[in-house]
Amino acid sequence: MSVALPAPVVNADSAYYWAAAAAERLVIRKCMHCGQLHFMPRYLCPHCWSTDLEWVEISGRGRVYSFTVMRRPADPAFSDLAPYVVALIDLDEGPRMMAGVVGEDALGVAIGDPVTVIFEPRGGEAKVPQFKRVAR
Ligand code: ZN
Repeated sequence: MSVALPAPVVNADSAYYWAAAAAERLVIRKCMHCGQLHFMPRYLCPHCWSTDLEWVEISGRGRVYSFTVMRRPADPAFSDLAPYVVALIDLDEGPRMMAGVVGEDALGVAIGDPVTVIFEPRGGEAKVPQFKRVAR
């Protein structure tokens, strides 16, 4: 049985992030007080607690910091995808984010692999940033 993949759950802190993802742009927060970038979206800077933040569009490129192969998904919606890869991606701009590594060669992923963002449709306008392996 095929079950639709879940759409993002949007809140006030992440609404701009998900709207940008729907438009196939990857954005993260930058602190205007200390200058640090961070992910996931928050209403204050995790480095200095300032609420003076802005959104910046980033390259969508990074490298695999670590990963796991999901063979028994906790959510039945992902059963048809198994086995699939969930990874921690070190973005070229610095922050680390969790996302799927997708594509025909995803199961061959290795730590340090260069990746680039793609936007996976999730019903309606919603898209979820995922990554695919690339040669660099
Ligand atoms: Zn800060």
